[in-house]
Amino acid sequence: MSKVYFASARIKKWKYSESMPGKLEHLLEEINLSGYFEKDEWTAVKTHFGSEGAHRVVRPVFLRKVVDALRAVSAKPFVTDTVRIKGLDYLEVANQNGINHLSVNAPVVLADGLYGNDNIMVKAGEILGEIAVASLIHDVPAMVVCSHIKGHIQAGYAGAIKNLAMGGVSSSHRHCGWKCGRGAMHTIGEGKLLWDEEKCALCLQCEEICPLEVIKFENELLRYNEDDCWRCGRCTRVCPEGALTLPGDDKRFMKSLAEAAKAVLSTFKPNKVLYINFLTEIQPECDCMPAADVPILQDQGILISDDIVAVEQAAMDILLKSKPLPQSATLSSLKKGRQSKDVLFGLSKKPYRLQIEEAVRLGLGSKEYQLIEI
Ligand code: SF4
Ligand code: SF4
Repeated sequence: MSKVYFASARIKKWKYSESMPGKLEHLLEEINLSGYFEKDEWTAVKTHFGSEGAHRVVRPVFLRKVVDALRAVSAKPFVTDTVRIKGLDYLEVANQNGINHLSVNAPVVLADGLYGNDNIMVKAGEILGEIAVASLIHDVPAMVVCSHIKGHIQAGYAGAIKNLAMGGVSSSHRHCGWKCGRGAMHTIGEGKLLWDEEKCALCLQCEEICPLEVIKFENELLRYNEDDCWRCGRCTRVCPEGALTLPGDDKRFMKSLAEAAKAVLSTFKPNKVLYINFLTEIQPECDCMPAADVPILQDQGILISDDIVAVEQAAMDILLKSKPLPQSATLSSLKKGRQSKDVLFGLSKKPYRLQIEEAVRLGLGSKEYQLIEI
């Protein structure tokens, strides 16, 4: 049975040791980093830098605690993420969200180069075949995966599996383009954007959000450069009218996340990756969206484990027991009669548990875990 260490967000005394940074320090001691990371070993701290308006990322104070703990066992940490918008702009987003060398006490670097196409094709599985894993993540021998737990319009639940699957893989490969990158998960077939002129309110949000500026409106008609499009799906997610869609398949998407996560993990030797799930500022959407909504569930705490399935299962179990927060997006799902005991499912109606089922089938870990609360 896998061990998952947990520290609650609630405090019982006004002491540093009761604070979340203090408890994270304690968790990192409990799991004994020296059992995973070696002296002078380059170690990636994989996080999501967020977007200009999505500030609810894993906070720099937590990344710093992870970096300092890695330094304490003489590993050589750096903080990284793959390119989601143009590379230099993405580093600036990280900086705006407080993630920089000064704040986290380690270099902050792009995992797949300035253009997001520095990657290596890795065998994935039945759905994806091969996938373009960011070269830095491919080459580095050790990693701590710091995931901000939240909802997601397409994945329903976004945690460590998604952080690795989407975040360990590039948007595009220099030869085979989006079909070898994240787009292979986001869409199916040729992945052509479908625009419904009747539904379109010409709000231009799709044009504004596109990281590659491939959408243009001419004479009130949508045009986009199909060859350059990453199939990231951001334009479809911000469309308020449902006028823009990418062909997809929910079950295939969930399974492909697990498959891509496995491909990323296949580049590491056993016992070289740890997972920290931050159940904090649990908002309804992905950190790549142009804004972050108020949390839908109260802060729960921090989980750490060396088993990606166990840490995800523990996070989902905790979230299932928590109540929806008033004044949050859960209210609108209630109005629409979509309320469910499972808040994340109530919001998205996505079969997100399939991510875990598939990860188990692929041998990534165990759903059976022992929760050790510190
Ligand atoms: S899917 Fe939409 S937002 Fe993403 S690159 Fe293509 S046009 Fe731009
Ligand atoms: S976001 Fe949707 S409604 Fe707005 S312009 Fe684009 S397609 Fe039309």
